[in-house]
Amino acid sequence: MRKKIVAGNWKMNTTVAEGVELAKAVVAKSAEVPADVTLIVGTPFTHLCPVAEALKGSKVELSAENCADKEKGAYTGEVSAAMVASTGASWTILGHSERRQYYGETDEKLVEKTKLALANGLGVIFCVGENLDEREAGKHFDVVTDQTKAVLYNFTAEDMAKVVIAYEPVWAIGTGKTATAEQAEEIHACIRKVVADKFGAQVAEDMTILYGGSCKPSNAKEIFAQPDIDGGLIGGAALKAEDFIAIAMSY
Ligand code: PEP
Repeated sequence: MRKKIVAGNWKMNTTVAEGVELAKAVVAKSAEVPADVTLIVGTPFTHLCPVAEALKGSKVELSAENCADKEKGAYTGEVSAAMVASTGASWTILGHSERRQYYGETDEKLVEKTKLALANGLGVIFCVGENLDEREAGKHFDVVTDQTKAVLYNFTAEDMAKVVIAYEPVWAIGTGKTATAEQAEEIHACIRKVVADKFGAQVAEDMTILYGGSCKPSNAKEIFAQPDIDGGLIGGAALKAEDFIAIAMSY
């Protein structure tokens, strides 16, 4: 069965105290969200332990925004998948366009990160998406196809049960511009076919594919109504509990 998911990506926002308050506010409102919608908050590494505590006993799950491409050792400043798992987090976001663009996240590194995340029992929210030049050149289908194949084709059909894909057109992230529901749907259908070509029709049918990019309470309903869109990865609007919950209630 395909899961519906609304996941927040807090990025590099909030102090620990502010993050705990935000998590508590999400928990307080989470009972309003339909039971079949999984809620996830993705927080900075520093916030994982205290936010895990704030989420205890609630339906809200916890994600990191990244993990290291190495298991352990002399990698100053890195945070391993095992460390993330030890905080109580059950997910990590990987391959976000900001990490690809600013921190040299290559497909090769993402294969290693995905391996380690899965080996440590974390679910992976794997992000793909084209930039504005690629969209304007008509290359968007090729870009998301290549990004998906380059990483996920190194894994098995069983692994895919722990992977969620997030389609995030880079030109729509934090810009206020949203892909139209039709633009998002056609890419989601393309990604689902790429998954089916390697892992079979059932795995593709069961794969949760999220939309991300200026998703907000006013546009979530139309986007989530598309047959291949199974929820959202939410940036800016996840920093306000009422907006995040309003988006999750758009199903
Ligand atoms: C994101 O970067 O994951 C994102 C979806 O951001 P925003 O909603 O702010 O566009």
